[in-house]
Amino acid sequence: MTKPVVLIVEDEAPLVTMLRYNLEKEGFQVCEASDGEDALIQISERKPDIVLLDWMLPLVSGLEVCRRIRRGPDTRAIPVIMLTARSEEHDRVRGLDSGADDYVVKPFSPSELVARLRAVIRRTQPGAGEEVLHFADVKMDLAAHKVMRAGTGVHLGPTEFRLLRHLMRYPGRVFSREQLLDAVWGHDVFVEARTVDVHIRRLRKALNAVGSGDIVRTVRSAGYAIDRPQ
Ligand code: CA
Repeated sequence: MTKPVVLIVEDEAPLVTMLRYNLEKEGFQVCEASDGEDALIQISERKPDIVLLDWMLPLVSGLEVCRRIRRGPDTRAIPVIMLTARSEEHDRVRGLDSGADDYVVKPFSPSELVARLRAVIRRTQPGAGEEVLHFADVKMDLAAHKVMRAGTGVHLGPTEFRLLRHLMRYPGRVFSREQLLDAVWGHDVFVEARTVDVHIRRLRKALNAVGSGDIVRTVRSAGYAIDRPQ
């Protein structure tokens, strides 16, 4: 598979350096733009596979760049992840309204960002990157049905495997027990909500047996998510 091309649109040079280093390490080809105008030129000329777009940019704002990507007949299908220091729900909604596919709030960890990138690429280009999911030090090879943590094999039952696969497809997103039942067990099966807790417990135990830091986050009265260790 050819390397996916990521365009980083960001005016903070140290952040660009950090992103470039981590993305190249993860097998992406990286190009850069440091303002909104340059970004629009590169997007129309190079047609990157995905754009990491900072909100606060010189010349043309990230929000406006995103709107123009969505208006261009040749560029409207390019996935966009907005990067921003703003965390208010209001701005999040504006970002997604402008056509962004996802939204990452600064500061973020490189592994979280890479996981989001892969998730967005997978959602928008079916088939691309479908075989392996990554999050933090956990790697899932879907074709081979193998899970590794920090290089060591993790032994999971079939339900735990499907549970982890679902959570790892949407890192950071919180799923209720009911949503997990639908996604992992299927709509037609009657299983009690607390069954999810049992399998989450097994999943956690298996993951933590070979690595440190709990990536399965329990969100009180809401559900579960895959998240960087707290
Ligand atoms: Ca900026």
